[in-house]
Amino acid sequence: MGDIKLDVLAIAAHRDDIEITCGGTIIKLTDKGKRIGILDLTEGEMGTKGTAEERGAEAKEAAKIMGVTCRANLRLPDAAVEVNQENKLKIAQVIKDTRPDMVILPYWVQRHPDHLSTSLLGYDACFLAGLKKLDLEGEPHRPRKIIYTSSFRDSQHSFFVDVTEQFERKLKAVAAYKSQFDGTPSSREIYRPGVDIFEYMTITARHYGHKVGVKYAEAFAIKESILIDDPCEMPVRSI
Ligand SMILES: [Zn+2]
Repeated sequence: MGDIKLDVLAIAAHRDDIEITCGGTIIKLTDKGKRIGILDLTEGEMGTKGTAEERGAEAKEAAKIMGVTCRANLRLPDAAVEVNQENKLKIAQVIKDTRPDMVILPYWVQRHPDHLSTSLLGYDACFLAGLKKLDLEGEPHRPRKIIYTSSFRDSQHSFFVDVTEQFERKLKAVAAYKSQFDGTPSSREIYRPGVDIFEYMTITARHYGHKVGVKYAEAFAIKESILIDDPCEMPVRSI
């Protein structure tokens, strides 16, 4: 990923995870001029459709649509992302290199083992990156904030982001993964059996939007409570 200062580093297990879970928010932030990086941990070589090379080109195209500054891949084995010190340090090195203020991780409860491992690895990597004496290159850096994408049915939500203006581009970013979601019923249904990925994303975003009075929204969770100095100044829209 190189030595580059980012505002946000979004970490995911597979190419297309970021687009599906928080692509609208990424686009919203890049629209505002924020520097966003994406770190995919695997190349998706275990996926039923397409090759790792095809997915690589598709991920590049999706990154372009979302306006991200950089995208890297750790090339950990797909469907076998292990929570170990070696992997934590690999991610910690990227955090030190890119010095993000905020890190986006997958929610901490997951059905797919790679998603869970990524959440655990990312959390520990944020801590390790801040240690002075760790045997890694660069100055210590600890992100100020970790937020979790929480777009799955059973996850908790702490806040929602209005992505109404970004939603069409989010769909385009996911559609860049032609080998996965090329419009034929069989390939569009691989995300979850019997569910069209674009319909799923639209229904989910509409549902979250409905909760907060906008057309489309994405859901996030945080683990800690928020300290507010002046409740009147809270940047929250009420409906
Ligand atoms: Zn995934």
